[in-house]
Amino acid sequence: MSGMIPLSIASKATGLGIARLAPRKARGANQIIPQPHKGATTMQTIERKPGKECGADFDTVCGRAVAYANRHNGGLELAETFINRAGWGHSIFGVEYVSCAGRELSYLNTGETYSLTIGQEGNGEVFSTSWGGWYEDAENQHCEEEGETRCGYCGEFTPCAEEWRETVCEHCGRYVDSGELPEKETEDGEDD
Ligand SMILES: [Zn+2]
Repeated sequence: MSGMIPLSIASKATGLGIARLAPRKARGANQIIPQPHKGATTMQTIERKPGKECGADFDTVCGRAVAYANRHNGGLELAETFINRAGWGHSIFGVEYVSCAGRELSYLNTGETYSLTIGQEGNGEVFSTSWGGWYEDAENQHCEEEGETRCGYCGEFTPCAEEWRETVCEHCGRYVDSGELPEKETEDGEDD
């Protein structure tokens, strides 16, 4: 439960993807685009021409883009360029950012929280990840190192009690598990 992403963040990112995806899936979209004649060399045919990567799936292309970008010290921008040239530009929607526990990930937005994409922390090497997976890892790592847990009610980090379910958030004063306010009389523990 402690690894869950606060709903506000998850829905924000997912909503963004859906909003951008919707128009692309509109019915009859293909009919609007004029079909070029055989051998035509319009911009459209050049852009849509399948590249060397046409037999691969998006995850495979991500892996190749990571290797390519790191080989050339190009970062996320170069990885994005690789994906576009490989003919998968329709699967990504620019660069987005997410931060957790003092770390920030920039990543190519696929519109899906847990689908594989490419991310980068600071100016480090790019790597294959989903932003949701990265977020959970960053959160878990922070909690393990600091002995903290994420409050299920307000979303802030707070020091863990010995029994996780007994943890009361220092920010909102509620149980991190249930979001309930503790009863006053339980505050006095037994002195052994
Ligand atoms: Zn709280």
